[in-house]
Amino acid sequence: MRQRNKPWADDFLRVNTHLVIPNPSEHNKRWSEVFGNDNPIHVEVGTGKGQFIVGMAKQYPHINFIGIELSKSVIVTAAEKVQESGQENIRLIQENAENLLELFAENEVSTLYLNFSDPWPKNKHEKRRLTFRKFLTLYETVLKPNGELIFKTDNRGLFEYSLVSFSGYRMFLQEVSLDLHKDHDPENVMTEYEEKFSAKGQPIYRCKAVFQGE
Ligand code: SAM
Repeated sequence: MRQRNKPWADDFLRVNTHLVIPNPSEHNKRWSEVFGNDNPIHVEVGTGKGQFIVGMAKQYPHINFIGIELSKSVIVTAAEKVQESGQENIRLIQENAENLLELFAENEVSTLYLNFSDPWPKNKHEKRRLTFRKFLTLYETVLKPNGELIFKTDNRGLFEYSLVSFSGYRMFLQEVSLDLHKDHDPENVMTEYEEKFSAKGQPIYRCKAVFQGE
Protein backbone atom coordinates (compact mmCIF):
# COMPACT_ATOMS: atom_id res chain seq x y z
CA MET A 1 0.00 0.00 0.00
CA ARG A 2 1.30 3.42 -0.97
CA GLN A 3 2.43 5.32 2.09
CA ARG A 4 2.86 9.07 2.16
CA ASN A 5 4.63 10.73 5.00
CA LYS A 6 1.95 12.47 7.04
CA PRO A 7 3.51 14.97 9.46
CA TRP A 8 0.14 15.40 11.20
CA ALA A 9 -0.20 11.67 11.96
CA ASP A 10 1.34 11.83 15.44
CA ASP A 11 -0.91 14.71 16.51
CA PHE A 12 -3.95 12.90 15.12
CA LEU A 13 -3.08 9.72 17.01
CA ARG A 14 -2.48 11.66 20.24
CA VAL A 15 -5.94 13.24 20.07
CA ASN A 16 -7.88 10.22 18.77
CA THR A 17 -6.99 7.56 21.29
CA HIS A 18 -10.62 6.37 21.20
CA LEU A 19 -10.12 5.36 17.54
CA VAL A 20 -6.52 4.12 17.40
CA ILE A 21 -5.90 2.51 20.75
CA PRO A 22 -2.55 3.34 22.36
CA ASN A 23 -0.89 0.53 24.37
CA PRO A 24 -3.36 -2.04 23.01
CA SER A 25 -1.80 -4.95 24.91
CA GLU A 26 -3.28 -3.42 28.09
CA HIS A 27 -6.68 -4.48 26.77
CA ASN A 28 -5.71 -8.10 26.16
CA LYS A 29 -8.61 -10.23 27.39
CA ARG A 30 -10.64 -7.07 28.10
CA TRP A 31 -11.65 -5.76 24.69
CA SER A 32 -15.31 -6.06 25.65
CA GLU A 33 -14.69 -3.34 28.26
CA VAL A 34 -13.29 -1.06 25.55
CA PHE A 35 -16.50 -1.48 23.54
CA GLY A 36 -18.75 -1.51 26.60
CA ASN A 37 -20.58 -4.67 25.53
CA ASP A 38 -20.09 -8.42 25.08
CA ASN A 39 -20.68 -8.53 21.34
CA PRO A 40 -18.45 -10.86 19.29
CA ILE A 41 -15.07 -9.49 18.23
CA HIS A 42 -13.97 -9.71 14.61
CA VAL A 43 -10.42 -8.74 13.68
CA GLU A 44 -9.07 -7.61 10.31
CA VAL A 45 -5.31 -8.01 9.86
CA GLY A 46 -3.78 -5.49 7.44
CA THR A 47 -6.73 -3.10 7.48
CA GLY A 48 -5.22 -0.60 5.07
CA LYS A 49 -7.30 2.54 4.60
CA GLY A 50 -10.35 1.17 6.37
CA GLN A 51 -13.07 0.84 3.74
CA PHE A 52 -13.80 -2.82 4.58
CA ILE A 53 -13.93 -2.44 8.33
CA VAL A 54 -16.19 0.62 8.15
CA GLY A 55 -18.52 -1.13 5.67
CA MET A 56 -18.65 -4.27 7.81
CA ALA A 57 -19.29 -2.27 10.99
CA LYS A 58 -22.26 -0.56 9.34
CA GLN A 59 -23.59 -3.87 8.01
CA TYR A 60 -23.16 -5.69 11.33
CA PRO A 61 -23.75 -3.18 14.14
CA HIS A 62 -23.85 -5.94 16.78
CA ILE A 63 -20.30 -7.06 16.06
CA ASN A 64 -17.22 -5.27 17.39
CA PHE A 65 -14.52 -4.80 14.74
CA ILE A 66 -10.83 -4.30 15.42
CA GLY A 67 -8.44 -3.44 12.58
CA ILE A 68 -4.72 -4.10 12.89
CA GLU A 69 -2.47 -2.14 10.56
CA LEU A 70 1.31 -1.87 10.57
CA SER A 71 1.71 1.50 8.90
CA LYS A 72 1.09 4.70 10.83
CA SER A 73 0.45 6.80 7.73
CA VAL A 74 -2.10 4.27 6.46
CA ILE A 75 -3.89 3.76 9.77
CA VAL A 76 -4.57 7.47 10.20
CA THR A 77 -6.49 7.42 6.92
CA ALA A 78 -8.50 4.45 8.22
CA ALA A 79 -9.09 6.33 11.47
CA GLU A 80 -10.43 9.35 9.58
CA LYS A 81 -12.89 7.05 7.79
CA VAL A 82 -14.00 5.53 11.09
CA GLN A 83 -14.48 9.02 12.53
CA GLU A 84 -16.55 10.17 9.53
CA SER A 85 -18.70 7.03 9.73
CA GLY A 86 -19.66 7.69 13.36
CA GLN A 87 -19.62 3.89 13.92
CA GLU A 88 -18.94 3.09 17.55
CA ASN A 89 -18.22 -0.59 16.97
CA ILE A 90 -14.73 -0.11 15.48
CA ARG A 91 -11.29 0.27 17.04
CA LEU A 92 -7.91 0.34 15.31
CA ILE A 93 -4.51 -0.86 16.44
CA GLN A 94 -1.18 0.12 14.91
CA GLU A 95 0.81 -3.08 15.30
CA ASN A 96 2.51 -5.91 13.51
CA ALA A 97 0.30 -9.01 13.31
CA GLU A 98 3.32 -10.97 14.55
CA ASN A 99 2.44 -9.60 18.00
CA LEU A 100 -1.15 -10.88 17.96
CA LEU A 101 -0.72 -12.86 21.19
CA GLU A 102 0.16 -9.67 23.06
CA LEU A 103 -3.05 -8.07 21.82
CA PHE A 104 -5.64 -10.78 22.39
CA ALA A 105 -6.21 -13.57 24.87
CA GLU A 106 -6.91 -17.16 23.88
CA ASN A 107 -10.42 -17.54 22.43
CA GLU A 108 -11.11 -13.79 22.49
CA VAL A 109 -11.79 -13.41 18.77
CA SER A 110 -14.69 -14.92 16.79
CA THR A 111 -13.63 -14.24 13.20
CA LEU A 112 -10.47 -13.06 11.51
CA TYR A 113 -10.21 -11.40 8.07
CA LEU A 114 -7.22 -11.19 5.77
CA ASN A 115 -7.88 -8.94 2.78
CA PHE A 116 -5.44 -8.58 -0.09
CA SER A 117 -2.45 -9.37 2.10
CA ASP A 118 0.94 -8.60 0.61
CA PRO A 119 1.80 -11.64 -1.57
CA TRP A 120 5.56 -11.80 -0.92
CA PRO A 121 6.03 -13.90 -4.08
CA LYS A 122 9.69 -14.86 -3.56
CA ASN A 123 10.18 -18.20 -1.82
CA LYS A 124 12.74 -16.69 0.52
CA HIS A 125 9.98 -14.38 1.87
CA GLU A 126 7.46 -17.15 2.54
CA LYS A 127 7.60 -16.54 6.31
CA ARG A 128 6.28 -13.00 5.81
CA ARG A 129 3.06 -14.15 4.16
CA LEU A 130 0.17 -13.70 6.55
CA THR A 131 -1.05 -17.22 5.70
CA PHE A 132 2.29 -18.87 6.58
CA ARG A 133 1.82 -21.56 9.26
CA LYS A 134 3.49 -19.44 11.96
CA PHE A 135 0.67 -16.90 11.55
CA LEU A 136 -1.96 -19.66 11.47
CA THR A 137 -0.75 -20.74 14.92
CA LEU A 138 -1.31 -17.21 16.21
CA TYR A 139 -4.76 -16.99 14.63
CA GLU A 140 -5.76 -20.37 16.04
CA THR A 141 -4.74 -19.27 19.55
CA VAL A 142 -6.76 -16.05 19.63
CA LEU A 143 -9.78 -17.47 17.79
CA LYS A 144 -12.54 -19.32 19.59
CA PRO A 145 -12.81 -23.07 18.88
CA ASN A 146 -13.99 -23.53 15.30
CA GLY A 147 -13.07 -19.89 14.65
CA GLU A 148 -13.17 -18.67 11.07
CA LEU A 149 -10.49 -17.15 8.91
CA ILE A 150 -11.90 -15.35 5.88
CA PHE A 151 -9.39 -14.58 3.18
CA LYS A 152 -9.71 -12.53 -0.02
CA THR A 153 -7.08 -11.77 -2.60
CA ASP A 154 -6.59 -10.95 -6.27
CA ASN A 155 -3.32 -12.88 -6.29
CA ARG A 156 -3.71 -16.42 -7.64
CA GLY A 157 -0.27 -17.52 -6.43
CA LEU A 158 -0.93 -16.36 -2.87
CA PHE A 159 -4.40 -17.93 -2.95
CA GLU A 160 -3.09 -21.32 -4.03
CA TYR A 161 -0.28 -21.12 -1.49
CA SER A 162 -2.78 -20.24 1.25
CA LEU A 163 -5.18 -23.07 0.42
CA VAL A 164 -2.27 -25.50 0.73
CA SER A 165 -1.15 -23.83 3.96
CA PHE A 166 -4.69 -24.04 5.46
CA SER A 167 -5.08 -27.68 4.42
CA GLY A 168 -1.62 -28.54 5.75
CA TYR A 169 -2.72 -27.03 9.06
CA ARG A 170 -5.77 -29.33 8.95
CA MET A 171 -8.23 -26.45 8.65
CA PHE A 172 -11.59 -27.08 6.97
CA LEU A 173 -12.13 -25.20 3.74
CA GLN A 174 -15.81 -24.29 3.83
CA GLU A 175 -16.26 -21.80 1.04
CA VAL A 176 -13.90 -21.39 -1.87
CA SER A 177 -14.66 -18.97 -4.69
CA LEU A 178 -12.45 -18.45 -7.72
CA ASP A 179 -14.50 -15.46 -8.82
CA LEU A 180 -16.29 -13.88 -5.88
CA HIS A 181 -18.00 -11.13 -7.82
CA LYS A 182 -19.37 -13.54 -10.40
CA ASP A 183 -20.71 -15.67 -7.54
CA HIS A 184 -22.70 -12.63 -6.34
CA ASP A 185 -22.30 -12.66 -2.58
CA PRO A 186 -24.82 -9.98 -1.55
CA GLU A 187 -23.09 -9.55 1.82
CA ASN A 188 -19.67 -8.91 0.35
CA VAL A 189 -18.08 -5.64 1.47
CA MET A 190 -15.34 -4.48 -0.88
CA THR A 191 -11.94 -3.29 0.24
CA GLU A 192 -9.96 -0.53 -1.50
CA TYR A 193 -7.74 -3.11 -3.24
CA GLU A 194 -10.72 -5.22 -4.22
CA GLU A 195 -12.36 -2.24 -5.97
CA LYS A 196 -9.14 -1.43 -7.76
CA PHE A 197 -8.44 -4.96 -9.02
CA SER A 198 -12.01 -5.88 -9.91
CA ALA A 199 -12.34 -2.64 -11.90
CA LYS A 200 -9.48 -3.98 -14.02
CA GLY A 201 -11.48 -7.19 -14.62
CA GLN A 202 -9.37 -9.36 -12.34
CA PRO A 203 -11.19 -12.17 -10.48
CA ILE A 204 -11.28 -11.99 -6.71
CA TYR A 205 -10.48 -15.21 -4.84
CA ARG A 206 -12.08 -15.87 -1.48
CA CYS A 207 -12.20 -18.68 1.02
CA LYS A 208 -13.41 -19.36 4.51
CA ALA A 209 -11.14 -21.68 6.46
CA VAL A 210 -12.12 -23.02 9.86
CA PHE A 211 -9.78 -24.27 12.56
CA GLN A 212 -10.70 -27.69 13.88
CA GLY A 213 -12.02 -27.67 17.43
CA GLU A 214 -10.58 -29.80 20.22
N1 SAM B 1 -6.73 -4.77 3.30
C1 SAM B 1 -6.56 -3.56 2.52
C2 SAM B 1 -7.30 -3.68 1.21
O1 SAM B 1 -7.68 -4.80 0.86
O2 SAM B 1 -7.52 -2.65 0.56
C3 SAM B 1 -5.06 -3.24 2.32
C4 SAM B 1 -4.28 -4.23 1.51
S1 SAM B 1 -2.53 -3.82 1.45
C5 SAM B 1 -1.96 -4.74 0.09
C6 SAM B 1 -1.87 -4.74 2.82
C7 SAM B 1 -1.89 -3.95 4.13
O3 SAM B 1 -1.46 -4.83 5.16
C8 SAM B 1 -0.94 -2.76 4.14
O4 SAM B 1 -1.64 -1.61 4.59
C9 SAM B 1 0.16 -3.17 5.11
O5 SAM B 1 0.71 -2.08 5.81
C10 SAM B 1 -0.58 -4.13 6.03
N2 SAM B 1 0.30 -5.16 6.64
C11 SAM B 1 1.22 -5.91 6.00
N3 SAM B 1 1.83 -6.74 6.86
C12 SAM B 1 1.26 -6.52 8.07
C13 SAM B 1 1.47 -7.06 9.36
N4 SAM B 1 2.40 -8.02 9.57
N5 SAM B 1 0.73 -6.61 10.38
C14 SAM B 1 -0.21 -5.65 10.18
N6 SAM B 1 -0.44 -5.07 8.97
C15 SAM B 1 0.27 -5.51 7.93
